[in-house]
Amino acid sequence: MTVMPAAFFGHGNPMNALEENRYTGAWRAFGEAVPQPRAILVVSAHWYVHATAVTAMPRPRTIHDFFGFPRELFDVRYDAPGLPELYEEVADVVHPTWVGADVDSWGIDHGTWSVLRHAFPDADVPVVQLSINALKPADYHLQLGAALAPLREDGVLVVGSGNVVHNLGGVSREMPDAGFDWARRFDEQARELMLDEPTEVARLDGHRDYDLAVPTPDHFLPLLYVAGVAGATSTTADVLVDGYAYGSLSMTAYTVGMTPPRAEGSGSAAPLPEEPPADGANI
Ligand code: ZN
Repeated sequence: MTVMPAAFFGHGNPMNALEENRYTGAWRAFGEAVPQPRAILVVSAHWYVHATAVTAMPRPRTIHDFFGFPRELFDVRYDAPGLPELYEEVADVVHPTWVGADVDSWGIDHGTWSVLRHAFPDADVPVVQLSINALKPADYHLQLGAALAPLREDGVLVVGSGNVVHNLGGVSREMPDAGFDWARRFDEQARELMLDEPTEVARLDGHRDYDLAVPTPDHFLPLLYVAGVAGATSTTADVLVDGYAYGSLSMTAYTVGMTPPRAEGSGSAAPLPEEPPADGANI
């Protein structure tokens, strides 16, 4: 079986699930270029809990974990099957780190389906999520990502979905397609590291703009899993697509182990609804 690449996606606001723009165009091009995976293992910003767990249900539900968006977004279903046996494989490769099997709590959240709806629109590849353990330091996530790398040889596509820069309190509606200086500085430093020495992104908590770029770690940490995969295989990342939304979100996406395909799409990231304020929307 072909060794799978890995990828990090900046998912932005959940309306990207319904829109076509240059980011979703890049996600789609990625899905078309990647060899058919046996399963997709997603580390999503939106499953940020006090445990390390893997979804292990045969039919994961579509979770609509946000507020204030149009009805049609709540009507989206992403009916990919699960792959309960992947739990054992994950538990094996990360041993002695403990990982639990979640049979009835989570499912497929919008960090996952807003991207996969474009990258794998047929929803015919099994999807499994790995939670982000909120109690653990950066190096734990980096090392867990590294431990997952061998699964790539068994057809598992490892995906991180978050945003390198994600400050909902700092959203500026006057800047739908631009980034604040601090957002650009942080995103550019992350890019330099991903393209040169990926595991060093775990040290970005010392960056001068870290507190603004990463006011909470949930959207940043998925990047560490993909950096960990790259580090474990002594490779570096490539930029799939980059850009900013609303000043305080970076939309940058990376691939590891694959030359990024050329994307066809155009246009800014999806607009935010007027209400509620972005930091009350759980996006
Ligand atoms: Zn999000």
